[in-house]
This record gives sequence, C-alpha cells and structure tokens, in this order.
Amino acid sequence: MSVLTVKDLHVSVETDQGTKQILKGVDLSIASNEIHAIMGPNGSGKSTLAYTIAGHPKYHVESGSIMLDDQDVLAMSVDERARAGLFLAMQYPVEIPGVTVTNFLRTAKTAIDGEAPAIRGWIKDVRASMDQLRMDRSFAERNVNEGFSGGEKKRHEILQLELLKPRFAVLDETDSGLDVDALKVVSEGVNRAKEANGLGVLLITHYTRILRYIQPDFVHVFVDGRVAEQGGRELADRLENEGYDRFLTQTNVG
Ligand code: ADP
Ligand code: MG
Ligand code: MG
Repeated sequence: MSVLTVKDLHVSVETDQGTKQILKGVDLSIASNEIHAIMGPNGSGKSTLAYTIAGHPKYHVESGSIMLDDQDVLAMSVDERARAGLFLAMQYPVEIPGVTVTNFLRTAKTAIDGEAPAIRGWIKDVRASMDQLRMDRSFAERNVNEGFSGGEKKRHEILQLELLKPRFAVLDETDSGLDVDALKVVSEGVNRAKEANGLGVLLITHYTRILRYIQPDFVHVFVDGRVAEQGGRELADRLENEGYDRFLTQTNVG
C-alpha cells in the first residue's frame, strides 16, 4: 500500500499584476485503493493542485510538501513523477502532432517501466483495453489529441490509466463535456483500474454527476485555495442539493 500526502501546501503564480497566491494551505492524504473527490466552485484552485502535483513549471510552491510514501515528489522532475507512479490527466490535454496513440502509449510504457514491453503481450493488452473502452481499433493510428472529441480525449486518458498502471491518478474534470454513455465507459475504466491495481484516485470535479458512477470514499470541498470541509460521500449528495453557496457566503464574510 502507498500513500500520497499533501501537507500545508502554498502555491503561487506570477501574473502581470504580480505574485498571486492560489493555494493557501492544502492538506490531503490519499491511500491506495481510495477514491477522493475534490469538489469546489470555479477558481477555487482545484486545477492548480493538479498542476502542482504534475510538476507544471508555472506553479511555484512557496511552502508545504507533497510526499509519495517517503519520496519527496516536489524534488522530482516530471518524468520521475511518472516513473514513481503518478498519473495526471489534465483538464485541457495537449495535441502531439505526428505521434500516434500506439507509439505514444508504447513510449510512455517503456519510459515508466524502464524497458520496452514484449510486443505480442502489449498489443493484446492495448486491444483489450480499447475494446473495454469501446474505442474503434483505428483510433490507435491517430495522432494524440489531434481533432479528438471531448469523449475521445477522456477515453484516451483512461486507456493510459489502464495500460500504464500508475499508483495514483489525478483526474481533473474528467467528466466535463461527456455524454452519459461516455461518462459510464470512463467511470468503469477508473473503477476497473482501482479493482485491478489498487489505484488511488484524486477525482477533481465541479459537478456531482460523475460521483453516481465512481463512488468516492472521501469528499473534500475546495474554497479559495484550501479544503473548507471534508466528509464521506454524503457530502457530495449535500452539494448536489445545496450547491456551493453556503461556502461562498462564508468566504465573503471572512
Ligand atoms: P479551478 O480549477 O478550481 O477552477 P484554478 O486552479 O484553475 O481553479 O484557478 C484558481 C485561481 O488561480 C483562479 O483565480 C485562476 O484565474 C488563477 N490562476 C490559475 N492558474 C493561473 C495562471 N497560470 N496564471 C494566472 N492565474 C492563474
Ligand atoms: Mg476552472
Ligand atoms: Mg479547473
């Protein structure tokens, strides 16, 4: 079992108007096999947390720590984070012109495992995962994210999740722009990765819809750069009924 621990994390970015503090003391701890939902209004810093865990150079850690068991994640390069077992699916994934899905997956798998996967088993695994995600075989020969629909981008992320077998995944608004069928397929993929590999998941979402298909063990409500409240899945039900007004009023008063 592994634990990903975020402690008193403060993060800023440089803007034209100067340094902007975005995360103001985030505490979180995710163990293998656990699903944590991070919910919160737009602009509360959810994506900033995802980018910081990913090692995006724009996000400056002022203080605090991110540990993967006893390894200091903040001291690792982006590649090292992937090799250590962290997987980040971004809200706005980038296009990689000239690189097919097949080649991308194989290169990523080789980099993470430190050796190329045996070709026959690998092709079998890729096909099995694509079938489960109900992706057409021709998808493998397309360039990464080039002209992908919202649903195809998300399926491609889950395909990576199944094949690269990370220890922890951060999924940022994986539900945005998905119709119900795609949402189900993607959710099943996340659930399968948890069942099969004990994946721990940080599921960032603005809406409660995806939580009907991926049951969170814990829910954290982000407001103004910190966790304002945490609870079990009943907290998500409450947010579905009440929205975020209660929290926004609190910050306005404060
Ligand atoms: P969320 O994902 O919860 O909507 P974000 O982490 O994207 O929130 O953004 C939190 C706040 O930080 C917002 O006010 C946003 O405008 C600001 N912010 C995030 N990234 C940048 C950046 N690269 N440059 C300037 N401001 C940023
Ligand atoms: Mg946003
Ligand atoms: Mg966001």
